[in-house]
This record gives sequence, structure tokens and C-alpha cells, in this order.
Amino acid sequence: MAAPNIETIVSLAKRRGFVFPSSEIYGGLGSAWDYGPLGVELSNNVKQQWWRWMVHERDDMEGIDSSIILNRLVWKYSGHEETFSDPLVDCRDCNSRLRADKLTVKSGAPMNPQRINYEEALQQKLLACPNCGSTNLTEPRPFNLMFRTTLGAAAEEDDPFALAYLRPETAQGIFINFLNIQTTLRRKIPFGIAQIGKSFRNEVTPGNFIFRTREFEQMEMEYFVKPGEDERVHQEWIDLCFDWYKSLGLAADNLRLYEQPKEELAHYAKRTVDIHYRFFPERAEDERQWDELMGVANRTDFDLRAHSKKPEDAEGKRFNPDSTEDLSYFDEATKERYYPYVIEPAAGVNRSVLAFLMDAYTERTTDKNETRVVLKLHPALAPIKAAVLPLAKNKPEIVGMAKAIKRSLQPTLRAVYDDTGGIGKLYARQDEIGTPCCVTVDHQSLEDEAVTVRDRDTWEQERIKVADLREHLQRRLNEK
Ligand code: ATP
Repeated sequence: MAAPNIETIVSLAKRRGFVFPSSEIYGGLGSAWDYGPLGVELSNNVKQQWWRWMVHERDDMEGIDSSIILNRLVWKYSGHEETFSDPLVDCRDCNSRLRADKLTVKSGAPMNPQRINYEEALQQKLLACPNCGSTNLTEPRPFNLMFRTTLGAAAEEDDPFALAYLRPETAQGIFINFLNIQTTLRRKIPFGIAQIGKSFRNEVTPGNFIFRTREFEQMEMEYFVKPGEDERVHQEWIDLCFDWYKSLGLAADNLRLYEQPKEELAHYAKRTVDIHYRFFPERAEDERQWDELMGVANRTDFDLRAHSKKPEDAEGKRFNPDSTEDLSYFDEATKERYYPYVIEPAAGVNRSVLAFLMDAYTERTTDKNETRVVLKLHPALAPIKAAVLPLAKNKPEIVGMAKAIKRSLQPTLRAVYDDTGGIGKLYARQDEIGTPCCVTVDHQSLEDEAVTVRDRDTWEQERIKVADLREHLQRRLNEK
């Protein structure tokens, strides 16, 4: 079945309590979304899977949870104050404020939409406002994406001493703790530091549901290697990350690797390969059906040098008068001192949730010719693992037994009890939210201490002894 478009997911997400528009009773807030009871479980599962894979299952990884608001100097020396901006243009006809690199290419314009020099293209009037189609646009100007705030009770709005930013990436919190972690955990290069947390960007054009918001969550890891090893390790991480998404159910057809051309690279990057997902299947045959799910960058030694107190190069180009530490590394074995290179896989939690929802979405026709939505989420990601359903809700013994089974399962897996409809309706509801197993308690169960377990993907039913139920469910949940 063809992948659904984002609108189908928005409506499912709202209808079934995955994601709600934020502040809706006050008219909403453009780009903000709240995760409901099922959404929070799904996004927690995504983060948990990533953390387990990235940190727990490796020998060369540590975790961290750094502050969202850091000393402003971090953003000065990381280069964000100066360069973390998007090119902004205004449409003179409809007054829309737009990102120059996200304008519509005029039909028939002779260029690849992913490789546009937008300054030239704007001058030649090859780009148009996506809202009204006008080519009457202003010159691009940089717009810094960092959210500003002020610290302390006495701070005036424009007080430069109180100015602070909400972090636009979690990575800097890792770099400034590199030495703390390396020394206290006695780590030798190569090793990595992983972090999951909120980031904030004052996006010019947020949109497409949870794809681009101003407040979002990232899962980032900085892997420190010896210079010279960086290219090989970078490629390894690209492959590992691509496989991680596939291992959790994303179809290979809906994923691709995208090599960023030189002119797109961030100021710190030597090479960046993005993992793209087909977020916009309705734009078939068009490059823009793809967009970024995750970026895997070779950040070189840019950040550790930039935050180091000592100049390393002859001209002292990166001399940092404010830092109190040198973040270079001394290799005891070779007696060499160097600034490690950094490989960074950076993924969005929200975009991952969206991709997993889109990829899992299927429709199936019943014998009665009704269309059912079946969300075939990987069991590890499914918000609810098992729903326990009584066949007759008016029979206290059946209800009691179903509730007791639910309670016996809940210490090991996320289980729910539901008796708010007929069994067909209850199955349909669980299919739509991706619950891998339904457990039905019927009259027979009272006698034979067995229940019916129904599989979400095959709709097949099996009779299982209550004593074996937990093990049976665990087996199903551990399957691919
Ligand atoms: P884009 O080109 O889409 O703006 P980016 O290249 O600036 O993204 P990175 O800085 O590489 O993004 O951030 C790493 C990941 O964080 C992205 O791959 C994406 O999944 C996520 N991300 C970045 N910005 C946003 C946002 N505004 N909303 C949701 N997720 C985001």
C-alpha cells in the first residue's frame, strides 16, 4: 500500500490521542503540538530504543543530560551567534515571510531543486512564493534562529550581560563536558557521548505537523576519534544509523542517503550525509518528496578547538580568551597530543515518531467490506503491547478475570483493559493504535484457564493458557 500523506497521520494522531494541536482552546500556536497518552508512550519508546542501542549495548559510550540554557559564550565560540541563521526573504505581494532555500522553483526552471544557488536564482526570478506564486521577493538576509531570553530578576530586555539562549542543538552541552567525562570515566579515544533532550529554533517557516516545530527533541551523539580515523568511522556511523531505522521497521524504499553538497555544509562540517525519509509521498517523482530524518556529520575538531583556551595553529586563529580549559587529548600509548575529530549522528525524536507512524500505517478490508486502519508499528515501539478485553462486560466473573490478567501483565509490559464496546470494535481500536496483541477473556476461560490471543498483523487467534500468557506475549513482542 502507498504510504499515507501527513494529513492522514494528523487526523489519526488527533482522533486516537497521539498528538494534539497545542493551546487549541486558545486557537492553537502555529507550530506547537502536545503529545497525548499514546504519543508520549510512542516517543518514549523511540528514545528508549535509541538509548539502549546507542549507549547500553556498546562498550564505547557514555550518556549525559546537560542544561538547556548554557553560558552565552558557548554559543559565541561555537559559531552559532554569528552563523546559525537561515536566509529570510519577504514576499512583496502577500507579505509572507519565507526561507529562501525553501521557495518554490518556478515550473520549467532549469535546475535541480536540491542544488539551487538561491541568491542567483532569486535575481533571475526563478523562485516564487509558495503561498501566492509571486516572484516579487526581497533580497535574502540572515535571520538567527536562536531563541533569546534574559537571566535573572533585574534583567532588562536588552541587557547584553543577561542575554542567554535556549539551546538550538544538544551537541554543545556534550563538547563543554568532554573533559569532565573523559577524565572521570577514564575514557580513551575512540569513545562517544550521547544525549537526548529538547532543542529550540525560531524557525521561519515551521510546519508539516511535527516535522518542523520551534521546540523539538533531539537524540545526538558525539563520537571522538583520532584525526585520520574520522572518514572511516564516519562511514561506519552512516551505515549503522541507516540500519537502525530499518531494524525498527522503516521500509528501505522510503529511506535514502543524501550527500550534502559543499555549499550546504554547516560551518563546522567536513562531510555530512543525511538520512532522508519519504515524508511527502504525494510529491512522487519530485525530489521534494524526501526530507531529512537525521544528519550524520563529520564535525572535525572544530568544536573542541573552538572551546579550548590554547591556540593550536601557528596564527593562533582559534585562540579563545574566555575558556579556562584546553580540550585536547593526550594519547598515553603514542605520547601524542591532539584535538579529537567528532562524528555526530543527530536525529529528531519528533521526525522519527512521524516517520514510524507514516511507515506503519496500513489499511485492510474486512469480510464485510469495511476499511480498517492497522498501524503495524514495530512491537518495541507500540504504545500499548497488549489489550485485555472481556467478551461479556456484564458478567462479573469474566470482567474480574480480565482485570486480574491485566494487572498481572502490567509490571512487565504496557497493558490496558477495555470494555467500552463490542469485541469487533475493541479489536478495530487496538489495530488502529498499533497494539500487537489482544487478549480476550470469554465464558470458556472461566473453566479452562485459557484466553484467546489475537495478532494485530495476521488477525489470527490462538488459545493460550493463562499461566503461559506472559511468556507467549514476550515472545511475540521480541519478534521482528
Ligand atoms: P533542516 O534542514 O530540516 O532544518 P537541520 O539540517 O537544520 O534540519 P540538524 O541541525 O542536522 O537539522 O538537526 C538534527 C535533526 O534534528 C534533524 O535531522 C531533524 O530530525 C531534527 N530537527 C532539526 N530541526 C528541527 C525542527 N525545527 N523540528 C523538528 N525536528 C528538527
